[in-house]
Amino acid sequence: MILDRASESRKDRRWLEQQWMRQQCRVFMLQYDKSLMRWGNRDAEPPQVVHIPGAEIASLNENLEQFVFLGLDDSGPLFALDVSAYHDDALETYVSDNEFVDLRDVGWLLDSQQAAQLAYARGLVFWNRNHRYCGICGSPTSSENGGHMRRCSNRSCARMHFPRTDPAVIMLVEDCSDPAKPRCLLARNSRFPSRMMSTLAGFVDPLESLEETVTREVFEECGIRVGEVEYQASQPWPFPSSIMLGFRAKAMTTEIAVDGVEIEEAYWFEAEQLQEFGEWGDDKGQFCLPRRDSIARYLVSSWVDEVLHR
Ligand SMILES: [Zn+2]
Repeated sequence: MILDRASESRKDRRWLEQQWMRQQCRVFMLQYDKSLMRWGNRDAEPPQVVHIPGAEIASLNENLEQFVFLGLDDSGPLFALDVSAYHDDALETYVSDNEFVDLRDVGWLLDSQQAAQLAYARGLVFWNRNHRYCGICGSPTSSENGGHMRRCSNRSCARMHFPRTDPAVIMLVEDCSDPAKPRCLLARNSRFPSRMMSTLAGFVDPLESLEETVTREVFEECGIRVGEVEYQASQPWPFPSSIMLGFRAKAMTTEIAVDGVEIEEAYWFEAEQLQEFGEWGDDKGQFCLPRRDSIARYLVSSWVDEVLHR
């Protein structure tokens, strides 16, 4: 079952308390941006997400305002607790067989629903930790609505602050100048592993439409002019608070000129060539594809499938 965020119910403090008191209540623990997990044999199995029963965590913190309410799944209510400011001794019981792991490193090994829940927890905990003071008057803020809103404690200000999401675009650029041999543009960002090729991406500037961002980023990074831009799919990206909006864009020019700063190399590839690429992390082939759980991979794979079955 997809997590029910119960966005109306969570505004009711009594309802939240009732969820907190339920026997099925579970808590994700996060320290800075890392989630508590159990990882036995690293080479043989993926890490297990640790759910701490609500009753077991009450001795650590009884203040419901410190918890973020995530929602309800098949097993019951789910909360998250940020323990970044806690002393190691206080956490000893919970950490003994477990460790704090960065979701960014292991998300692709997890079941997709679990990864999505942890990403959601990480995003909300990050926002709460970074908005403890009012951006208008500087007074402390306090959590409401299960950590989905913070209100300024200065009564003459009382500004309500809500979590924000920064939009970013990610796009597969397609060259159909020879309809018999369509090609797509993949590039290697300087931050990528050495052989990984992926789609282009970039943040939306203030007061820019998504289509304008796609057009601008493709030209800035690779010198290609694009025409038609079509939305494909999206993926929340809590590193720290983005959503990746996936597009396909039609190239109007084909001569590549990489910016040499963000993008180190970029090439046009036919679908058959992409089938020869290795998986992320293996040594097969000259190049490798983005991770299977990424929207970049979805954009590439769906394009390859479409071209091969045209
Ligand atoms: Zn204020």
